[in-house]
Amino acid sequence: MNFEIVLATNNAHKLKEVRSILAPHKIVVYGLKDLNIDIGEVDENGKNYYENALIKAQAVQRFTNKAIIADDSGLEILALNNEPGLHSARYASSLGGHQEAFKDIFKRLEGKDRKARFVCDIVLLNVANKPLLFEGITEGHITETAHGETGFGYDPIFLVDELGLTYAEIGDEIKNKVSHRGKALKKLLTFLKINQSIR
Ligand code: IMP
Repeated sequence: MNFEIVLATNNAHKLKEVRSILAPHKIVVYGLKDLNIDIGEVDENGKNYYENALIKAQAVQRFTNKAIIADDSGLEILALNNEPGLHSARYASSLGGHQEAFKDIFKRLEGKDRKARFVCDIVLLNVANKPLLFEGITEGHITETAHGETGFGYDPIFLVDELGLTYAEIGDEIKNKVSHRGKALKKLLTFLKINQSIR
């Protein structure tokens, strides 16, 4: 039987990424829209990625008994004291979008070290008797200009160290293998396999 998971997001890109990683393992992933779940505006006021992911997952809990996952992620730039980090989405929207955020970041990084990393925390609810955390981190650098067409968010300016290409240049399949979200989901898969939730 297929294992069913609800992903606590309305972000179509995230849903696509998570689906393509979990589908080969006989896991059906529902987005909130698929189940007509409306959690409204969730106040992501946690102190860290884990707390924010937990807040999102818990907002869905009253609507379903299925397993729920929520992720919270961010881009941490070392020379900017790990900004935008927890505020990655807000940082871009407050400047008018990701293109404006790229320009702002390029300006702030002039003459500075460009080391950065993406972090993703995934929280799983309704499977164990407590929330479980799976974390993925991908190391990289901020490019001098935007490169590539695929993906979303900060993908065009995040150069993956092990590939020498940006997230937006490598396409969905490779991104899923090397990305922060892909790594966190791999840990989730291992957990589900060990616990025989999936076979
Ligand atoms: P959240 O996890 O939905 O709060 O996402 C935070 C923000 O981080 C997103 O709006 C994007 O700006 C950025 N982000 C998260 N994951 C990725 C990714 O895989 N590529 C590019 N940007 C991302």
